[in-house]
Amino acid sequence: MSASLTDAKSAELYARAVQRLPGGVNSPVRAMRAIGRDPLFVDRAEGAELFDVDGNRFVDYVCSWGPLIHGHAHPEILAAISEAAARGTTFGAPTAGEVEIAEEVARRVPGIDMLRMTSSGTEAAMSAIRVARAVTGREKLLKFSGAYHGHLDGLLAEAGSGLATAGVPASAGVSASATANTVIVPWNDGEAVVRACAEHEFAAILAEPYPANMGLVPPFEDFLQLLRNQADATGALLVFDEVISGFRVGPGGAQEREGVTPDMTVLGKIIGGGLPAAAYGASREIMEHVAPAGPVYQAGTLSGNPLAVAAGLTTLRLLDEVAYARLAATTETLVHGLRDAAGDVPVQIVSVPGLLTVFFSAEPVHDYAGAQACDLAAHAAWIRALLARGVYAPPSQFEAWFPSLAHTPEHLERTLEAAAAAFAEVKG
Ligand SMILES: *Cc1c(COP(=O)(O)O)cnc(C)c1O
Repeated sequence: MSASLTDAKSAELYARAVQRLPGGVNSPVRAMRAIGRDPLFVDRAEGAELFDVDGNRFVDYVCSWGPLIHGHAHPEILAAISEAAARGTTFGAPTAGEVEIAEEVARRVPGIDMLRMTSSGTEAAMSAIRVARAVTGREKLLKFSGAYHGHLDGLLAEAGSGLATAGVPASAGVSASATANTVIVPWNDGEAVVRACAEHEFAAILAEPYPANMGLVPPFEDFLQLLRNQADATGALLVFDEVISGFRVGPGGAQEREGVTPDMTVLGKIIGGGLPAAAYGASREIMEHVAPAGPVYQAGTLSGNPLAVAAGLTTLRLLDEVAYARLAATTETLVHGLRDAAGDVPVQIVSVPGLLTVFFSAEPVHDYAGAQACDLAAHAAWIRALLARGVYAPPSQFEAWFPSLAHTPEHLERTLEAAAAAFAEVKG
C-alpha cells in the first residue's frame, strides 16, 4: 500500500526559492534531487521530531547532518545559547568559553593538546592542510575517493556526498592546479596507499577514520594502523577528519575507539552544538605553528563565537558514559530492526555507534566504487516511501543516518514499522 504526503506549502516556498537561491537551497543535498522530489521546508523541530510547513510530522534521522546528537531544541543547550546571547553575540576578543571548550576537547580527544576554532568544517580542514604543509615543507596530499573534507578547492576531487549524489565527478570552477597536488586512492586499499606513499612525498595523509560521506564505510581491521605506519615511515602527517565521528562514536572519536592517534584532527558539527563552529587541533608543537604563536596565518571574524561555544560546550558536557551507551543501544535497535524489516530485499546495513547506512546492494560495500554500484533507484524509492510514512532519512545513498539521544523507543518503533512497509512497497 502506498502512502503520500501533503506538501502544497513546501511546493509554494520551493517555487519562490528557486527564483532567489540556486536550486532553491543553501547547500545541495537539501534539494532532495537524488530521491527525485522537491525539498520539504521545515517549520520547527523538537527532540527527534521534525515538523514541516504543511504540518507533517517526521522522526528525523538527518538531525542537521550530525551536530544534533542531543536532538533538536534541547532545553539546556537553548538556555546556554540564550544566556550567552544576552551578554553579547560577538566581541572579536577572547572569552572564557573558548578556553573552557578547548580544555574540554583536549581532555577527550587523544590527538589534541591545542586547537584553533573556525566557523565551518571546510575552514578547519583547509587550515589543517596549511599547517601540515608548513610543518613538513611538502605540498602533496593523499586523499581517499569518496571522502569529503568540505568544499575547499584542493580536496574537491572524488569527494562523495553532495558531489556523488549530483553525479558530478569534481566541481566546475576548481582549477587543475588546485588539485594537482592531491593524490586519490580507494578507501580500504592498503596496497594503493603503500604504493602512493612510495611514489610521492606527502605533507598529509587525510582520512575520515569512519568515512560517512559515501554512506558509512568503516575501515578494514588494521587499515587505520597502516595509515599511521605509512605516515611515520614517510614523514607525512596523519590527519583524521572527525567532523562527523568526533564526539559521536565515543568521547574521543574514532581515534580513541580504534586506538590510532593522528597527528592532526579536524572537528566540526557536534562541537558547535547546532551553531556554526568547528576546529582543528594537534600537539602543542604542531599547533604553535599557527599565528600569532607561529608563521601559519589563519583567522576568522566569528571564530570561537560565544553563542556557538556555549552551544558546543553544553553539548559536550551532556555527553557522559550513560549517553554514549544509550546512543549505541539506539543504533543497535535500529540496525537489527531494519535488517528484519528488509526481509529478502538485498541490503547491507552498516553501522558504528551513532551512525548507520542502508546500502541497497547484495555485496558488502568496502569503498566508493562499491557505494556507487548500489541500486540508487531502489534506495530513492525506499526513502520516498519512508518520508510518506513520517520518517525523514537522509535523501541520498551516499550519507549516513544520524540517530540521536532524543530518539525514544517509541520513535524507533514508528521508524521500523514505516521501514517494513517501505521495503514492501519497494519490492512491489
Ligand atoms: C560536514 C563535513 C565537513 C565540512 O564541514 P562544513 O561545516 O559543512 O564545512 C568536513 N568533513 C566531513 C567529514 C564532514 O562530514
